[in-house]
Amino acid sequence: MAERAGTEPSVFTRILRGEIPGEIVLQTDDVFVLKDIAPKAPVHLLVIPKTDAYRDVTELAAGDPRLLAHLVEVAETVAAQAGLDSFRLIFNTGLAAGQTVFHVHAHVLGAGAGGTLDEASMTAGMPGEGRDT
Ligand code: 5GP
Repeated sequence: MAERAGTEPSVFTRILRGEIPGEIVLQTDDVFVLKDIAPKAPVHLLVIPKTDAYRDVTELAAGDPRLLAHLVEVAETVAAQAGLDSFRLIFNTGLAAGQTVFHVHAHVLGAGAGGTLDEASMTAGMPGEGRDT
């Protein structure tokens, strides 16, 4: 189910504040990394700006390109920490593309040390794939 944009804090903001549980594996001043609650690959992390001012990556790129670059840098760091040589970095952008949380975030998907992603992991995040709706 899509989370509506509005004045309510996003689910990610609520996790960052400690209001609801979530496994945060890394934080910088501006970004945090959360284990996805419904992993689509052996490694599935979400790299999220602490600000919820940007709904998607297009808004982030236009509004704060340095923060976007930092987010990508952090994605590379956590991928390396997870033992990944290769990884997918995905920004679902818009409802029809499968975005459900309108607080910009990057998915880091990987197979784990030495492995390769299976077909389900390669299509994870595509509209209609691995989703209830
Ligand atoms: P999107 O569909 O917007 O690209 O990605 C949202 C992601 O957030 C999904 O992969 C979903 O599993 C994850 N997610 C949604 N709610 C929660 C939650 O409460 N905790 C965690 N850890 N992940 C969540």
